[in-house]
Amino acid sequence: MHKDLVAALDIGGTKIAGALVDGGGELLVRAQRPTPPGGTGEQVMAAVGEVLVELAASPLWAAARAVGIGSAGPVDAKAGTVSPVNIPGWREYPLVQGVREHAGGLPVTLVGDGVAMAAAEHWQGAARGRANALCMVVSTGVGGGLVLGGELQPGPSGNAGHIGHISVDLDGDSCPCGGRGCVERIASGPNIARRALDRGWRPGADKDVSAAAVAASARAGDSVAIASFERAARALAAGIAATATLVEIEIAVLGGGVAKAGEVLFAPLRRSLREYATLSFVQGLEVVPAQMGTDAGLIGAAAACGDVRHARVARAGRRVRTPSAEGRPCP
Ligand SMILES: [Zn+2]
Repeated sequence: MHKDLVAALDIGGTKIAGALVDGGGELLVRAQRPTPPGGTGEQVMAAVGEVLVELAASPLWAAARAVGIGSAGPVDAKAGTVSPVNIPGWREYPLVQGVREHAGGLPVTLVGDGVAMAAAEHWQGAARGRANALCMVVSTGVGGGLVLGGELQPGPSGNAGHIGHISVDLDGDSCPCGGRGCVERIASGPNIARRALDRGWRPGADKDVSAAAVAASARAGDSVAIASFERAARALAAGIAATATLVEIEIAVLGGGVAKAGEVLFAPLRRSLREYATLSFVQGLEVVPAQMGTDAGLIGAAAACGDVRHARVARAGRRVRTPSAEGRPCP
């Protein structure tokens, strides 16, 4: 019945999710483990192995044709290694090799989680049918991925589109990445909350100091909370405008917890874009919320696998691929 499934893995700092995904993006079998907090490289890999063993126990595993991994970054798709900032046990960890040991002879594709999110939004979400898009996750960090000419563009190492670490403030605060004034340093949830607290915003009786709480205050008219979101919106607008000017994206898709703030973020973001995206060819740039839900990472890992493999085949000249406006899963 089911042919040509992809075993997808979505690896983050809190959980390792897996699924068998069909050609329509349906998740037929799921498995999940918590990411061992502070675990050694081998302990985290063991959790990944358990997810794969659980998936492989399904009779549907026989239809799996490939494994697609979206991992917290940075990743190195060439070397098959990952060094996620939020998984300290993994530094240049040979994830692809570890996954291969559980996945028989299936081909394994690795991309960063921002690239996977972009693949999901392009395949089935807000960037569907768009040839040139930047898709972003604005959450505890800020990541992203690019679709150009109708194809996902993971870049040689699987990290292209990592807009969170573009500098938009030349003399700005140091960023944990080693840079300065990065988009993430201003626009991530923790940085929105930090700025609000620094300037006198105080949480309510529930002591919630998350960006969501700042967003609620902004909605209620708190000027410090509003200013913190406006500052984040300007940083995002500057990064999006720079991207649009460089590669002519037509749409920017924003997902992640901070994007759930809605118009508190999107209204000043659209306003600021008019300030930064000024040339004629970027003035029509749209900014919209993401449409994919919590499964975006898994669906994107499956889709990225297809896109990356098709692109590679096309580059190798073994097969001419008609450019498609939609991502597709393996094979
Ligand atoms: Zn940075």
